[in-house]
Amino acid sequence: MSYQGGQGGSYGGGAPIRAQPPMEYICAECASINEIKPREPIRCRECGHRIMYKKRTNRMLQFEAR
Ligand SMILES: [Zn+2]
Repeated sequence: MSYQGGQGGSYGGGAPIRAQPPMEYICAECASINEIKPREPIRCRECGHRIMYKKRTNRMLQFEAR
């Protein structure tokens, strides 16, 4: 197999590795905020509870106090 890259290959690709920022989770047990990376298991560092609420970072929920 003679692989000839035809037109002066601009194969400089390589997917840009985005460093995903850790998400903030709120423990359902002790309500402490834990920063957990996408590959880390969800577990509270304070009490070890495994049920945590995900904090939304894109949208800010604002309630008008009227
Ligand atoms: Zn906790």
